[in-house]
Amino acid sequence: MQINGSTKTLGVIGCPIEHTRSPIIHNELAKVFSHNVVYVPFHVPTNLGDAIQGAYALGIEGMNVTIPHKTEMMQYAIEIDEFASVIGAANTLVRVEGGYKAYNTDIPGLKRAFDSDGVVVEGEEVIVLGAGGVSRAVCILLAKYGAKRVYVLNRTIDKALDIAKEVNRYAQKELVQVLKLEDYKELEGKTYLCIQATSVGMYPHVEDVLISDDAFYDLVHTGYDLVYNPYETAFIKKLIGKQKRAFHGLKMLLYQGVIAYEYWYNIQIDEKTSLKVYERLKEALE
Ligand code: NAP
Repeated sequence: MQINGSTKTLGVIGCPIEHTRSPIIHNELAKVFSHNVVYVPFHVPTNLGDAIQGAYALGIEGMNVTIPHKTEMMQYAIEIDEFASVIGAANTLVRVEGGYKAYNTDIPGLKRAFDSDGVVVEGEEVIVLGAGGVSRAVCILLAKYGAKRVYVLNRTIDKALDIAKEVNRYAQKELVQVLKLEDYKELEGKTYLCIQATSVGMYPHVEDVLISDDAFYDLVHTGYDLVYNPYETAFIKKLIGKQKRAFHGLKMLLYQGVIAYEYWYNIQIDEKTSLKVYERLKEALE
């Protein structure tokens, strides 16, 4: 692209930020739409409020905010989208009069990834592995889109119990039940959609898998790993070995970016364009 006196700036704030893939998504979209904008990483370890205030003063049009600032950043937004507020974390700032409005595009991004891959939530019985920030947000999504029952399995049981309490309050029913990791045998007799929402298996620990017993994968009809690096995790390999449907976390990453870009430019981005960006993301992983 040609940077000139009219070039606008978008960016991502985080720490660490060196491994972010977001510039690939947004600079590719800018190219597709011939927008005179550049998307850059900002390494911000502390003083998040100053960074956001400074960004506004510099005329920055919009930003993503990532680890470790997704919750704290909400206190520096002048408005918070209702869904971000329910989830308790946001990853996108959209410039409005006087400051930024905060949105969560991670979870709508995961829903769009499900739709793109033909994964249905409504009426499903779901196993969620993990009870961190993403698992909590995934459980809200499952409640919002009509999952029949959700089993959260986690190493630290208290964190899973906290999620169950909060999500059941949101769903206004006993949707979420909690199991210890080793108690998955209690789920035998049915097959489930299984969402892998732990960090186990992430690069460079690519051989690691949360549940190594092959028998667990007989319980799964469709697996969705939210880890996107490596592209094919050990969890995905286990499922493929059992000839089950298996999907990767890269589409969630893609669509959280696509939806943020839609907010910044007030446009709708079609599937064909999104998948073109997806190919660029995949190339960058390989
Ligand atoms: P988090 O809050 O740190 O939670 C990590 C989860 O992994 C916890 O449930 C933790 O269990 C579990 N865990 C970690 N190491 C473990 C181990 N050795 N054995 C057993 N369990 C272990 O992380 P998060 O924010 O929820 O993110 C989770 C993952 O989601 C990330 O690592 C990332 O790969 C993925 N993600 C993907 C996207 C995307 O766009 N595709 C977006 C966001 C996140 P304990 O509770 O017992 O510690």
